[in-house]
Amino acid sequence: MVKVLVSGACGRMGQAVVKAVQDDADLSLVAAVDVRGGVDAGEAAGCGKCGVMVGTDLEKALLDSRPDVMVDFTRPDAVFSNAMLAVKNGVAPVIGTTGMTADERAQLEALSLEKNTPVFLAPNFAIGAVLMMLMSRQAAKYMPHVEIIELHHDNKLDAPSGTALQTAEMIREVRASAQQGHPEEKEKLPGARGAKVDGIHIHSVRLPGFVAHQEVIFGGLGQTLTIRHDSINRESFMPGVVLACKKVRDLTGVVVGLEKLLD
Ligand code: NAP
Repeated sequence: MVKVLVSGACGRMGQAVVKAVQDDADLSLVAAVDVRGGVDAGEAAGCGKCGVMVGTDLEKALLDSRPDVMVDFTRPDAVFSNAMLAVKNGVAPVIGTTGMTADERAQLEALSLEKNTPVFLAPNFAIGAVLMMLMSRQAAKYMPHVEIIELHHDNKLDAPSGTALQTAEMIREVRASAQQGHPEEKEKLPGARGAKVDGIHIHSVRLPGFVAHQEVIFGGLGQTLTIRHDSINRESFMPGVVLACKKVRDLTGVVVGLEKLLD
């Protein structure tokens, strides 16, 4: 049985994680933490009382409940300190919160190795999104002209999305840095052509009604190819989160991407 603490338990993703942990026979919810504490985690998640009260002090919850794994879906400005605290206490973080900087990741990697406590991080826990990224990397070998459009709900705090950045990273593995569009093109409004990663343009859309969606568009002579993924609800992420909870303790250091856990 894997003992799980959920950090950000009252948020949109945290509530879905509380329910997924409750529903899995091999996982046990031992603690829940959120800025908004004082409620039963199951009741907050809408799946009935579970006897685990949501606390507000992460370190106290880690020490009191001694979990094996901490799942974190909080905020870009909270995830790093939460993850460092978990690793310091020998608890393996499964991180879904996006927006951690490269420097923070490096510090987490150093502590993870020092404490012999693995960390798993995925910018997207949906299997379809992972396939979209893998297929995009494959397509970019043959169609190197590519732009990414990511679309999310308007409560998302970071832009571009972690999934868009990870997709660009994976495309960079197979595609030389190149400027796209006309060499003399001018933006009449700053940002009109989006953000750029090695010449790959990324466009971020934020609107109510969306959950998490992305299109990767490739252009070639007389043809285009579009690879699109849609998460239509937050359950789409749960099989990936559950798998990570079960496998994280077999890893070493900081491991990034759900594809690393798949056969
Ligand atoms: P959300 O609804 O705002 O939930 C975040 C929750 O964490 C809120 O209840 C928030 O409380 C709480 N919180 C803030 N700081 C905290 C802290 N220091 N300790 C404990 N709890 C804290 O956001 P969400 O939609 O669930 O998304 C959470 C994160 O997951 C975002 O970064 C999002 O991009 C990411 N995400 C990742 C995936 C993936 O597959 N990897 C999928 C979807 C979303 P307050 O509201 O009071 O601040």
